[in-house]
Amino acid sequence: MHRRHQNPLHDPLHYATLQLPTGPSVTYASASPLLCGYDYVIVGAGAAGCVLPSKLSEDPNVSVLLLEAGGCNTNIFETKVPLMFPKLFHPEHDWDYYTIEQPNLSSRKLYWPRGRILGGSTSLNAMMYHHCSKSDFDE
Ligand SMILES: Cc1cc2nc3c(=O)[nH]c(=O)nc-3n(C[C@H](O)[C@H](O)[C@H](O)COP(=O)(O)OP(=O)(O)OC[C@H]3O[C@@H](n4cnc5c(N)ncnc54)[C@H](O)[C@@H]3O)c2cc1C
Repeated sequence: MHRRHQNPLHDPLHYATLQLPTGPSVTYASASPLLCGYDYVIVGAGAAGCVLPSKLSEDPNVSVLLLEAGGCNTNIFETKVPLMFPKLFHPEHDWDYYTIEQPNLSSRKLYWPRGRILGGSTSLNAMMYHHCSKSDFDE
């Protein structure tokens, strides 16, 4: 068998489940009484969404509300172990997105994981780190 087919990540249906149900939509009118007491409201506690409130709240005169759709990652073992991230695909910690059909990929729809949990996609990523060369940044 070709190596490409040995990797389950190349088969978008390997982990397929139903799409997550979405909750009722929230209107500005219903949310504004809760939000108006804050100087900043940040939606999504992922990589960017955790850094921003941390920096903003260094000013004691500033109030920040951070909203996250997913749950806490503290007791989720798979979020702590590098390369266990595929275990978090599809159930409640993932948005379970698929692309539209890709004409240049035999019209396949590709599974597109994104974290739905505190830490966002950093809670279900591979924890790989590559330090770029100076020339990468200069360019
Ligand atoms: C499977 C996978 C493996 C990866 N591996 C690596 C790696 O090894 N090394 C690396 O450097 N990078 C890796 N990445 C990439 C890295 O994790 C992302 O680039 C990074 O997390 C993106 O940060 P972000 O803040 O843009 O979004 P995210 O970290 O995804 O955060 C978005 C947050 O917003 C929340 N959210 C979205 N909509 C709403 C809403 N309406 N209301 C409330 N909350 C909402 C989500 O639930 C989520 O928590 C990987 C990504 C994936 C998916």
